[in-house]
Amino acid sequence: MHIKKGKIFYVAIAVAIIFVLNYFVFPVLFGDNVEDVTYDEFLSKLSSRSISEVQIEADDILYTLKEDEIPKDKTPLLGLATPSSVDVYRTGLMDDPELVSKLENSGAKFARVREEEVPPLLALLISYGVPIAVMIIFWRFLSKQIAKGGFGGNAMSFGKSNAKIYVKAQTGKTFADVAGQDEAKEALTEIVDFLHNPKKYAAIGATLPKGALLVGPPGTGKTLLAQAVAGEANVPFFSISGSEFVEMFVGMGAAKVRDLFKQANEKAPCIVFIDEIDTIGKRRDTGPISGGNDEREQTLNQLLTEMDGFDGKKGVVILAATNRPDSLDKALLRPGRFDRRIPVELPDMRGREAILRVHAKKVNIADGVDFKAIANATSGASGAELANIINEAALRAVKFGRIEVEQSDLEESVEVILAGYQRKGVVISQSEKEIIAYHEVGHALVAALQKNSAPVHKITIIPRTSGALGYTMQVEEDEKFLMTKEEAFNKIVTFTGGRAAEKLMFGTITTGAANDIEQATKIARSMITRYGMSSEFGMVAFETLNNPYLSDDTSLTCSAETASLIDKEVVSLVAKAYEKAEGILKENMQKLNSISRYLIDKETITGDEFMDLLNM
Ligand code: ADP
Ligand code: MG
Ligand code: ZN
Repeated sequence: MHIKKGKIFYVAIAVAIIFVLNYFVFPVLFGDNVEDVTYDEFLSKLSSRSISEVQIEADDILYTLKEDEIPKDKTPLLGLATPSSVDVYRTGLMDDPELVSKLENSGAKFARVREEEVPPLLALLISYGVPIAVMIIFWRFLSKQIAKGGFGGNAMSFGKSNAKIYVKAQTGKTFADVAGQDEAKEALTEIVDFLHNPKKYAAIGATLPKGALLVGPPGTGKTLLAQAVAGEANVPFFSISGSEFVEMFVGMGAAKVRDLFKQANEKAPCIVFIDEIDTIGKRRDTGPISGGNDEREQTLNQLLTEMDGFDGKKGVVILAATNRPDSLDKALLRPGRFDRRIPVELPDMRGREAILRVHAKKVNIADGVDFKAIANATSGASGAELANIINEAALRAVKFGRIEVEQSDLEESVEVILAGYQRKGVVISQSEKEIIAYHEVGHALVAALQKNSAPVHKITIIPRTSGALGYTMQVEEDEKFLMTKEEAFNKIVTFTGGRAAEKLMFGTITTGAANDIEQATKIARSMITRYGMSSEFGMVAFETLNNPYLSDDTSLTCSAETASLIDKEVVSLVAKAYEKAEGILKENMQKLNSISRYLIDKETITGDEFMDLLNM
């Protein structure tokens, strides 16, 4: 519907332009200069024998003057005489029986010109069709130039996909640039192999999936993997981001999809990569009020049509990436479309170390830097964050005038990524510093004195740009994939340890525990609504995860009564945890005091120092 509207608009403009050209511009440019004169003027020229030639047409008489009879115009500037700009004179044909004898007497050449019989339709075609054809050719030429980037912009290349053709040299990425992600690489290697040896697959009768969908949390290297495939496959690589389909004019998304697949078909074997496909591939039945995004829906429909339309054996492989696989339209995931999913998960400990090493190659690293320790301290970090950690460390090394990145740079940059930069400027009063120190040591002591709790790695009361006034870092010895009920509960206890220490020491409480409270509540709630860890409710899910890659995106599905029961249960669970923390600290007031004093003095202490003080 939109497309038609658009086309009519363009056609209307074209016709208007041609109309103007035909009636005002062409005659001036190409026609003779004709001047209309009266019949008696014509007769007087005849009798004065000034006329050179006469041409009698159906309705008009056209004549030219003899050379020396042409009137001179005075050019205003130089006063020079130049021939008149008029070439031909015209007057209406009269019913004049003596015309022929008058012409004879004047000595002019004369002839009656028979109208060349141009059929009206052909005349119309010529006067309108030729300019239209010229304009179309010109338009094509123009948009090709723009598509090539010749005019430095692409807002004009209506309907062109802007898909960039990447070949190996251009992305410059190979699988060696992607650390970890072995499963994803294996799946993609198969696709690369298919593009290189299609016969091998055809011989056995296998058809490879038309499309593969890379799914995983943000920053895990999906885009990077696709670029690496392009580098490895050595075939043309069309890359476009989902948002590019919908950003321009109405109706252009579908046209872009069409054009993209047309190009891809011409260039087969090749790879088409649609990044962030969720922007166009969102489920279409999203409630009655939304009314649907007409434009997006059209684009999606076009994509589905194109994917069905082309021959899988031809060697066009479509890759797409998303971190919202749940929101994709089911139609996209049907067999024959994106029927293969390639998970790209957050890296594990070994993966993190490998990613750190890949990125460390780009900077000067001091000998003996322990990447394993950094990998250990960054559980849950994505590849993008790890790349960032290396870069931050390099920046820090430069800041301190070093030419190599040291362990301390890496450790500090882990904290920068986790908690923000140190806020050097803020001045914190001694009394507040004491509260903060006791709070942090409260966390650390509770953590250290419980079983099933990760060891303390660092305690600091140097404020960070994230707003944290201090923090206690715990690092698991081994990577954990599961959490027991006890461990979950102990985490809540550790979160409540900060406030418990404040209360025990100063008899009052502060706002400093806000984040702890939030985290503790979240764990308690999940234990009840998602993990089936409360005896009250048992194994019932009241909360479901909407997006496996965004753990905060959940929705509650229970009755109002149950919701209030859940709230009560959360309250009692956190209260129980607080009690436990308070108990632990009461028994260790002396340690709380001595370690807090030490921390106030040093501002930062390592896990080892902390354990030494604790075991003294
Ligand atoms: P996504 O598309 O999944 O959101 P990207 O591919 O854009 O993530 O990754 C962002 C950056 O993070 C990459 O350019 C790369 O520098 C780094 N990165 C992510 N994963 C990896 C990995 N497995 N190996 C090496 N670098 C990675
Ligand atoms: Mg990406
Ligand atoms: Zn705290």
